[in-house]
Amino acid sequence: NNDDELNKALATWAVSHNISRTACNELLKILKQYTSHNLPTDARTLLKTPRKTQHISKICEGEYLYFGLNDIIQKMLLKDNNTYVNLLINIDGLPLSKSSQASLWTILCSNTVNKTVYLVGAYFGYKKPTDSNIFLRALVDDLINFTNNGYIYNESIIKIRLFGLICDAPAKSFVLCVKGHTGFYSCTKCVIKGKYINGRVCFPYKKTFPSRKDELFSANTYQDFQIGFSILNNIPGFLPISSTPLDYMHLICLGVVKKIILLWIKGPLNVRLSISSINKISHLLILLKNSTPNDFVRKPRSLKDVKQWKAIEFRNFLLYTGPIVLRHILKPDIYLHFLTLHIAVTILIRSNLNEELINFAESLLNHFVISFEILYGKQYMSHNIHNLLHICSDVRTYGPLDNFSAFRFENYMASIKKRLRKNEKSLQQLYKRYNEIENCNSFLSSINNETLNSYKYLHNNGPVPDNYNIQLQYLMMSNEKFNIKCKGQNNNCCLLKSGQYVLILNIVQKNKDFLLIGKKLKYIKDVYESPYKSSDLNIKVMTVNNDSIFSWPITDLLGKAWKIPFGNHANTFAIFPLNHT
Ligand SMILES: [Zn+2]
Repeated sequence: NNDDELNKALATWAVSHNISRTACNELLKILKQYTSHNLPTDARTLLKTPRKTQHISKICEGEYLYFGLNDIIQKMLLKDNNTYVNLLINIDGLPLSKSSQASLWTILCSNTVNKTVYLVGAYFGYKKPTDSNIFLRALVDDLINFTNNGYIYNESIIKIRLFGLICDAPAKSFVLCVKGHTGFYSCTKCVIKGKYINGRVCFPYKKTFPSRKDELFSANTYQDFQIGFSILNNIPGFLPISSTPLDYMHLICLGVVKKIILLWIKGPLNVRLSISSINKISHLLILLKNSTPNDFVRKPRSLKDVKQWKAIEFRNFLLYTGPIVLRHILKPDIYLHFLTLHIAVTILIRSNLNEELINFAESLLNHFVISFEILYGKQYMSHNIHNLLHICSDVRTYGPLDNFSAFRFENYMASIKKRLRKNEKSLQQLYKRYNEIENCNSFLSSINNETLNSYKYLHNNGPVPDNYNIQLQYLMMSNEKFNIKCKGQNNNCCLLKSGQYVLILNIVQKNKDFLLIGKKLKYIKDVYESPYKSSDLNIKVMTVNNDSIFSWPITDLLGKAWKIPFGNHANTFAIFPLNHT
């Protein structure tokens, strides 16, 4: 009934905007006073906050809460009815405050079909769990059970397996019981021995290095690398080396990209930029705020804040803004080197990957690593730079980089962390917030038909092609992936399935069909031509063809693009298709 829907809608609003209990109670009071709706008086009733917390156990000098995989697998199957579930597990430590050592160690879960994230378990303590095998015990038991027996759903047996374990380097060394990423033999993928240069362990380029083998790892044979036996090895089908891919969020965005920017700011003289060059880049980045599509949660910031940049800001710099703001400012060889990484990652992030493209990206990354040593120096050949040599073999197993990146888990934990109000009773709070979020998610998935386009903001202002008998005109269209807004300049540049870039000026309904009305963009030149032509990646310098207006069926739409002002001409833009997910 109506009041029930209102209750759910209010709960969803309160949870998604992280409304405090006091504020929510006051709103309920007002609504009860001035309307006749049947509403609860207490926010906890509205949000279905559990009154009691599931059993919290004491392990490893801390507290531990385990939700288990059973309910999660069921929710996954409700979303995508499949004959198998390939689980992705993320384990990470999260400091809870700057003032104390309090931290959460979470176990999160997702799968290869859907990017939704679930909480499997969490540990709270004032240091990390003393024994990773005790911390992992419940998870490993669950995984062994479901891998061996499958999951019964709609009277059939669904195959379950742990497909990938996605962790940053410290978490990976913790759960796999191997030496930390500062050790001489710390590469998880090969047996290269690091060198000690200028106070740190570095990995100068070497053409061949034997890969680590899953069976040798499981047999605990890497004495200089393994410091114990991880019970993860007991999970059937789990390969300790191949099933723990390198995550590009930590490795490339927070690792390599951040490192090279910091070297431009305060590295060796041959690569360091002058203060005026840094200011110029910052100025250009800030200008790009005005053209940023709403698909980006964070707008470009000055290089002065680079230490505070989040992973997605480094990603956006690498994929979109860097090639524009660095042109004619970096020395040609340094710029070309940056483009090598930009092109390789742009290729590896896209869904149209094939073996030939992966091989090409791999050769670019190989070249990037060799040149890095020459341009920046041996002493900066870190663990992350070295690991660029390995990431393509993970792409061969897992597909495009975002299929196995930590982004979805990181976003999820950021939203959870925001909801934990005090440092005390963190697991109790976590339990309650998780249940509130899950209640709302089940409500949202019951009302959302995500595959449909929706149209908003009727108007009568055109433009409409001559001789068109138009019923309705709209300013905005949205679907589950993005929205297009005809007003303004930032959210109307689109790529059609034909490969044509267009500017959408109107969205109209003609009979039962929806049409996009707009202008075509015309190719002028490539944004860069070496080491690979940007137009081969669909990145082009273009201008708006001012003469005529065209219409295209809405089904021709492929995706959005970022239209970045280019050079000094008012009507000239660098066009980047949006590829990140
Ligand atoms: Zn290696």
